[in-house]
Amino acid sequence: MTDTVDVTPVESASGPTRYDLTRAEFGALLDGEPRYRLDQVWSGLYEQLADPADITNLPKKLRQRLDDELPLALELVTESVSDAGDTVKFLWEIGGRSGGERSRIETVLMLYPDRATVCVSSQAGCAMGCGFCATGQAGFTRHLTTGEIVEQVVRASQTAKASGRRVSNIVFMGMGEPMANLDRVWGATERIHGDIGLSARHITISTVGVVPGIRALKDLPLPVNLAVSLHAANDALRNEMVPINKRYPIDDLLDACADYLEVKNRRVSFEWAMIDGVNDRDSDARELAELCWKLRPSAHVNLIPLNPTPGYPTKGTALKKVYAFRDRLEELGANATVRRNRGTDIDAACGQLAAGQPVTLSKKR
Ligand code: SAH
Ligand code: SF4
Repeated sequence: MTDTVDVTPVESASGPTRYDLTRAEFGALLDGEPRYRLDQVWSGLYEQLADPADITNLPKKLRQRLDDELPLALELVTESVSDAGDTVKFLWEIGGRSGGERSRIETVLMLYPDRATVCVSSQAGCAMGCGFCATGQAGFTRHLTTGEIVEQVVRASQTAKASGRRVSNIVFMGMGEPMANLDRVWGATERIHGDIGLSARHITISTVGVVPGIRALKDLPLPVNLAVSLHAANDALRNEMVPINKRYPIDDLLDACADYLEVKNRRVSFEWAMIDGVNDRDSDARELAELCWKLRPSAHVNLIPLNPTPGYPTKGTALKKVYAFRDRLEELGANATVRRNRGTDIDAACGQLAAGQPVTLSKKR
C-alpha cells in the first residue's frame, strides 16, 4: 500500500497530449488565431469527438499543427468484443513516467438498451492489494494523467458513436484506486462534465474506502455518485479482504459516507463481490443490513458474484445463492440489486482488468 496523497507529477517529459489541456490552456496555444477558433476546436474535440484532421471548419494548417503538437496518449493494442457486440474492452499502451517503461491499461464500453457506460481506469495497476482483484494482484505502476483519463472516455465514445450510440454514464471502476489519484480524477471529472457534457449524476467514483479521499470529494462541487467497495461488514473479515481497512476501519468509513450523503444528497452504494463461503453467509447479510440502516434511506447494495482471476482460487457464490442473499437483505430492510456481469469471456468484468500484466499467485483464500 502507498499513502493516499501523491503529488508526484506524472506528465511525461515529451509535453502535453491531446486531452491534457484545459480550455484556458488551449486558448494560450491558439494565441494569434481569431478568437472563435477556440470554440471551433473545443466543439470539434469534445462535442463532435472528432480528431483534429476531421474538424473541417478549421484551416488545414491548423488541423495539421494540432495533430503534430498534441498527439494522442493512448496507443490501441487490442479491442475485444463480447456479448454480441455490446461490451467492448480496449487495451491501451501508455508512455512511462518521464519517458520510462511503457505500461498497459484497460477501458470497457458497455452498451445497454437504455444507456451506454464507459468504465475508466484511474491508475496503471493499483497499490491497494485486494487479493481477489486482478488489478491488485498485478501491483501499481503509475497514476494516470487527467488527459489519459479523458482520452479513455473520448475514444470509447467514438466507438459508441460509430454504432449510433451516445455515452451516458461514466464509472471510475476500471484499474486503480481513484481516491489515490484524486487530483487527476477530479480534473477528468470536471472535463467530462463541463466539456463532454455529461451530468454529474451520471458519473460514479468507486473507492475501496480511502476515507480522506471521500472527505475531499465531499468538499468538491459536483454531486457525483459514490460507490464504496465494502465486501465485508466486520473489521476482522474486511482487514483480510481489503488491506486498506486496517488504516480506515468500517466505523470511520461509514462516518465519511454519512457526511458525503448529507452534503451531496447523492446515493451511496456498497459494492459486494460475493465469494463462496467467505462473505455470503446469513451472518454477513445481517451485518451488512445493519450497516445499510445506518445510512438509510440511501445505502444501496450491488451484489456481484466474484469473477475468476488468476491469483485467487476461491470461487464466486453460485447465482442462485446470490439471489437468495439479495432476498435476505431485502427482508432485513436493505435495498440490493444483483449486477449482471458483462464481458467475463474477454476478462472485461469487475476485478478482471490486469492489462496483460503478470500476477503474483496467491495461496490465500
Ligand atoms: N479501486 C476502486 C475502483 C475499482 S472498481 C474500488 O475498488 O472500488 C472495481 C470493482 O470491482 C470494485 O468494487 C472491486 O471491489 C470489484 N472487484 C474486484 N475484484 C473483483 C472480482 N474478482 N470479482 C468481482 N468484483 C471484483
Ligand atoms: Fe485496487 Fe479496487 Fe482492485 Fe482493490 S479492488 S486492488 S482498490 S482496483
